[in-house]
Amino acid sequence: MRLRMSSMIFGGAVSLATLVLLYQVLSLPPETHPPREEKDILSLESRLQRLESDIKSNQHTISEIKSLVRQLANSNSRANSLLGPQYGVVSGKKFARSSINAVNIAEVPGLDLPHRSSPVPVHYNLTYAAVMQDDCIFAQSGPSTADIQMEAVYTLLEFDNPDGGAWKQGWNIKYDAAQWSSEKKLKVFIVPHSHNDPGWIKTYEHYYSDQTRHILDNMAEKLPQDQRRKFIWAEISYLSMWWDQQPESIRDTMRRLVDRGQLEIVTGGWVMNDEANTHYFAMLEQMVEGHEWLKLNLGVKPNNGWAIDPFGETPTMSYLLKRMGLENMLIQRVHYSVKKHLAREKSLEFKWRQAWDSGSTTEIFCHMMPFYSYDIPHTCGPDPKVCCQFDFRRLPGSGVTCPWRVPPQPISDVNVESRSKLLLDQYRKKAQLFRTNVLLVPLGDDFRYVRPEEWDNQFMNYQKIFDFLNSQEELHVEAQFGTLADYFRAVHEESDSPGGEEQEVFPSLSGDFFTYADRDDHYWSGYYTSRPFHKNLDRVLEGYLRGAEILYSVMLGTQSMMGKIFPELTDSLMARMVMARRNLALFQHHDGITGTARDHVVVDYANKLLRSIDNCQHIIQQATHYLLSIDQLSYVSDPGAVYYELGEKYTEHNKIASKMVLGLQDGSSVPVVIYNPDSHHRRELLTIRTSNMYHISHLQIVGKKEMPAPCQVDPVFIHSGEASHTMFDVTFLVDAPALSLTTYTIKAVEPSRVNSELVSYAKVIVRSMVAPSVPSIFTVSEEKSKEPFTLHNEHLQATFRSSGLLQSMTTQGHTAPVSLEFIKYGVKNHRETSGAYLFLPDKEAELIPVGQAGVVLIQGPIMSTVSTQLKHILHMVKIKNSPGVDGMGIDISNLVDITVERNFEFAMRLNTEIKNDNLFYTDLNGFQIIKRVRYSKLPLQANYYPVPSQAFIQDKDNRLSLLCAQPLGGASLKSGQLEVMMDRRLTQDDNRGLGQGVLDNILTPNTFRLLLEPRINAKESGSSHEGLAAFPSLLAHAGVHSLLYPLYSLLPTAKTGPMQSSWDVGGTLPCDVHMVNLRTMVDPPRATVGHNSHLTPHPPGSISSLTLHRLGFDCGFKSPGLSCSTNGGKVRLSELFPNMFSEQVHQMSLSMLYEGVDMTKSYTLSLQPMELYTFRLIRS
Ligand SMILES: [Zn+2]
Repeated sequence: MRLRMSSMIFGGAVSLATLVLLYQVLSLPPETHPPREEKDILSLESRLQRLESDIKSNQHTISEIKSLVRQLANSNSRANSLLGPQYGVVSGKKFARSSINAVNIAEVPGLDLPHRSSPVPVHYNLTYAAVMQDDCIFAQSGPSTADIQMEAVYTLLEFDNPDGGAWKQGWNIKYDAAQWSSEKKLKVFIVPHSHNDPGWIKTYEHYYSDQTRHILDNMAEKLPQDQRRKFIWAEISYLSMWWDQQPESIRDTMRRLVDRGQLEIVTGGWVMNDEANTHYFAMLEQMVEGHEWLKLNLGVKPNNGWAIDPFGETPTMSYLLKRMGLENMLIQRVHYSVKKHLAREKSLEFKWRQAWDSGSTTEIFCHMMPFYSYDIPHTCGPDPKVCCQFDFRRLPGSGVTCPWRVPPQPISDVNVESRSKLLLDQYRKKAQLFRTNVLLVPLGDDFRYVRPEEWDNQFMNYQKIFDFLNSQEELHVEAQFGTLADYFRAVHEESDSPGGEEQEVFPSLSGDFFTYADRDDHYWSGYYTSRPFHKNLDRVLEGYLRGAEILYSVMLGTQSMMGKIFPELTDSLMARMVMARRNLALFQHHDGITGTARDHVVVDYANKLLRSIDNCQHIIQQATHYLLSIDQLSYVSDPGAVYYELGEKYTEHNKIASKMVLGLQDGSSVPVVIYNPDSHHRRELLTIRTSNMYHISHLQIVGKKEMPAPCQVDPVFIHSGEASHTMFDVTFLVDAPALSLTTYTIKAVEPSRVNSELVSYAKVIVRSMVAPSVPSIFTVSEEKSKEPFTLHNEHLQATFRSSGLLQSMTTQGHTAPVSLEFIKYGVKNHRETSGAYLFLPDKEAELIPVGQAGVVLIQGPIMSTVSTQLKHILHMVKIKNSPGVDGMGIDISNLVDITVERNFEFAMRLNTEIKNDNLFYTDLNGFQIIKRVRYSKLPLQANYYPVPSQAFIQDKDNRLSLLCAQPLGGASLKSGQLEVMMDRRLTQDDNRGLGQGVLDNILTPNTFRLLLEPRINAKESGSSHEGLAAFPSLLAHAGVHSLLYPLYSLLPTAKTGPMQSSWDVGGTLPCDVHMVNLRTMVDPPRATVGHNSHLTPHPPGSISSLTLHRLGFDCGFKSPGLSCSTNGGKVRLSELFPNMFSEQVHQMSLSMLYEGVDMTKSYTLSLQPMELYTFRLIRS
């Protein structure tokens, strides 16, 4: 196996090198038009030169490949299979950027502002990404060729719901007992488990103290009593909390249980994460947190995924598990019709493949549980009435009963035969749904095995059944307790055996499992939106955590390079980081970010998120202070000090962020630091709130090299109709290198010393309302007209109805109607109604009449804002005159408040003339795009899908994308329409265990960017929608990144002191490569001895993990506002980090458990589209 893999990689590397050579020869710059012969000679000469240089570089390449192959032969085989076909190392030569067609990447020229009182649009030279033609091939290539495509399954299914009898959602299963023999036995693995939600009805801490700690205590006692007993555990958040309170002897017991295979850690994430609303940054983070803990404490690497409760499943999860080195996974909550279909086809076990993978390298073996639930009545076989009798937690007198009214009986010598045969009948029926003779029977439920008697009752009664069954030769069955690993091992043994080449035994499958329905028309699409305030807060924390991780790692890297570490600083900041990591991880739980926990639990999560944001802000400002310090060697650290305030503060769990105000006084000069956490150069507008208008007319913004920057001053409205006289918003263009800190100084200077043309004051224009009171520096006018009005910048134009709602857009010379409206849904007047999980609308949405709303228009040369206060919403649209990506779309920010309503669901809808028919696209976890088909055979709520970061509709001419700063639910319910749900308020419970409605709504921010992109070459055929996979444009990718990872402003405090004006990491990444994270790994706890002895629980280690994602993108659209280039996914870490980390680099599995190839920093990596890569960097 190992040899085969190595040679495959060798082959891959060689052919990649060949491809690169070809590319270099073929991609000469386009020639101008000299005479034909001269042209030929010139061309030949140029090719000769090129070939000469290629020969030199290829000698280098070959030696690199040789050394790589030597390493591959030596490296561990698990890592090989991770790194294999998608990995390539090519020429060490710097990849020739000059070979890319030249594109305008000009600097911003002098700005033209003729007269301050009549603002004229500021002009910029627009830049475009330089895209290498070969990089377009991936998105144009054919669809996945998986045996089962979920889209086709949906097309095929009738979604009828016939009564299947005992197995209500299935059929009456029959079997022939002769299919088993003494050579071919039915192998049954009973897998005991306990599902522990880290927060739901109770908080994480309360569940722990009431239930979970007893479960784990009992586990440590009961499992060692009999080596045949097995158990699996998933939630590392709980395990770590318990572990911290255990003596070393108990920890050793646990390690022995794991070593012996009695206890298996499944998935190994901090929580069992939600799969709809989560972003892959946080999914990865919560997995890495769990795996890092396991490595440090239990020394175990999980091999099997276990997701029994998330409400629908994403292929992003299967991809992450695969690239983390897991070999199998299990899922449960899938639409009952899909389960039934796959069960009929015996395809509940499949190799789950990514829709964009044209090969099979992303496949992971997946088991889908066949029945309604993961509880014991629904796991032994098709008849819950029978299965419930084998839940020995429900023995008479226990206080828990079977709803089917037949209680379990303790197993005795008298009844063992009849009871065993009754159960075996269920096992045999269930086995008919699978292709092997190996059967998985989970044995557990939520918070099970709390009391010691339950352990005894389950394990002892089942052991009697096993002993009986296994002793009856003619039954041809072998039953035992098992872990998930035992089960999957047996499945693979059988399917790998002669005559059963695994390739042919199990089908491949592509697609996802949304939207989940557990019964009837009960579609779980409500939780895509429930508690949107907290969903938004999640993304805010993700941005800050990523920003803090990266800046902390480069701070530590710089300290190492300088040869002076400040342990009191780095330890203290790491403690804050670990807290933030764990709180973010906790919230990824399937009752956290989903918004499906009780009110007080939601508050608990929110407070944890808030504290974490605060900690990340603290890390960012501390690291900034170190990196910008004049002399890093003589730096004096003060880990608690606040040197900078971030531009926004989150102070209360139920309040939107408040903006920090920069105190400006006459003559003051305040250096504001801008942190660009993106690994690409950015030009974007930034707004700083300043105080005091005392001499504001002499405001000056000074950037790099003392260059004054034009700025615009806007009034700040405190109540509608009244602007503040002491606060102003100052907006200017920031030009920030990749991963950098840049200073812009805000000065209040002598009138004679400032070019007043660089400062402009917004004009305030109101419609249908009384003119507000504003400071006299602004002009106010009333517009009586009821006609639509238009705003524009250099690159786009937006027309609004007199109500202030968008009517049409013009971008890149193309105009399209895009009419924005607000709609509402009510609830069905049934016994079963909408709640936190379920969306059960009464009928199609109703339009909310806008009436004659007052509109405030704040207009200026740099930015214009239209605000409308409607009944449930403050709706604001910004048009930014920026040469960056923020200038290429329309920014929409909604402040939603529906607390006056009952049973009310509130959505924003866009109506266009785009002919998308019944197709639209949504992302999965911000990682990939999936095609959605609207089916009239499904109810409205079934056509709602998660929109974790974007959705688009398109036809052959145009694409309209809605980029989202927070996850929400969305749909396209008619051709040309795109809608997104923004909040929901529901009076009643929806009978899924929560026991309450959703009535804790608060003022909630929803932020979007709307992009209208004309196709460069309209496709010939109508709407061309091949395959499941689709890709955003580079502009859309950059737009999402600018929403999730915005520029952060740091305002100095009294403690700041003199600082350097800028710092940057030194390198940048190609347009289509995103730095997911640069994360410092922790070491085991470190005890400091001596008179000042203390324990540092999470000291930073010397290793950082760098995760890169090569984005898949659609070349069919222009990429204005970008100034990067693509180059075939080539990355050299030595160029990205020229000044830090040692030469030694290892490629790793995604969660750092498996080592791959080792290489040097100067290798040229060749990243494949859509793939994620993790590298281990060591501080030098
Ligand atoms: Zn759960």
